[in-house]
Amino acid sequence: MKVKFEKLIFTFILLFTINLCQSQMVLNGQKVKVPKTQIELVLGSKDRIPIKKLRDQNRSLNTCTNVSNFVPNYDSDMPIAAQNAFNYALDILEDIFVSDVNITLDINWEDIPGNAIGTAGSSFWRANFSFFPEFGKWYPEALTNIYNGSQFNSSADIEVNLDSSTNWYFGTNGNPAWNQVDLVTVIIHEVSHGLGFAGTVFSNGTPSSTTIGWSNLPNIFDPFVEDGNGVQTMTLPNNTQTLLDALTSDDLFFNGIYTNGSNGGAPPQLKSDNPYVQGSSYSHLDDGFSNEALRSFIVTGDAIHDLDILGVSMMRDLGWEVCNDSCPAEMTIANNNELEGNQSFQSAFESDGDIESLQNIQGGIDVIYDSKTSVELLIGFEVNANSNFEATIDGCGNN
Ligand SMILES: [Zn+2]
Repeated sequence: MKVKFEKLIFTFILLFTINLCQSQMVLNGQKVKVPKTQIELVLGSKDRIPIKKLRDQNRSLNTCTNVSNFVPNYDSDMPIAAQNAFNYALDILEDIFVSDVNITLDINWEDIPGNAIGTAGSSFWRANFSFFPEFGKWYPEALTNIYNGSQFNSSADIEVNLDSSTNWYFGTNGNPAWNQVDLVTVIIHEVSHGLGFAGTVFSNGTPSSTTIGWSNLPNIFDPFVEDGNGVQTMTLPNNTQTLLDALTSDDLFFNGIYTNGSNGGAPPQLKSDNPYVQGSSYSHLDDGFSNEALRSFIVTGDAIHDLDILGVSMMRDLGWEVCNDSCPAEMTIANNNELEGNQSFQSAFESDGDIESLQNIQGGIDVIYDSKTSVELLIGFEVNANSNFEATIDGCGNN
């Protein structure tokens, strides 16, 4: 993956930027509504047993240590204890995400109105540079930097806003009181949004206000979202009841090959219940994933100090290289009899993944996975229609 993009010449064909810090941004003279993701607060109780999922202490024994470098720029109003908690959360993320380019963050400590205790997003989304793997798709700034091979511009890649009036727990041992919000948990959640875990949907709850895509382009998140019948949400028409119905159908899923592989082979459900809540719906796991960092809310007293395998897998599907230790165990994918005729090189079966490595399938035949929609067979490999085969890959798509 690294080789593929570093070798490209950086010709800037089309330059769009969207600033997620603002609710609207002028894009080529046209105003574009940009969603904010947020995490909402749920008050636990003294009697409830809190969820604790702490950092794996064995991680330091593994090879994945500081495979990226997050560089925070803290609001001067932010308490030192809060900054220390933030640093602790970034240490965890630095053992997961692989980047040769520093990932920079601006952190604002402010009074956020309403139930949201934190919001975050990529500071910029860019599309159609030649160094991107695909045209017609928005990429968050941290990935832009990686594909570019260096920091694209000097602004922070990610903006995080934290509510200064929340009853935070700044400790890093995962022991908030029943009525405290564990800051480390929220940071891991919010920074993940900033790394690209956020779709382009916007709605104020009426059909006419409901859109997906920015300037008619999806971002890296959108193509993975589909309903139970496999209909991609991004294929539905803007400003329609149809789109709003889909977003509130309680029937949207994240269909990615790593993700499915880490979720028992099935796409995990996304938050898509009724009513639609801007910033919460669509861009989070369903509420039922009670111990996952990427659900839409946090319960006081809980501490979730890891993206864990499902979260990491979704980020991997979005295009992030992740360190092996954070990946799912070995997965198997099969062609499901989708082969048509004898094929020697081109697509053999849909994978819906972005895997770039040589692997071995049953019988010792190599295949190469290198596109979002197909698995290509190596030259010289022929297979008959309707023949079954399976490919076994490790959770990071590596050999
Ligand atoms: Zn969120």
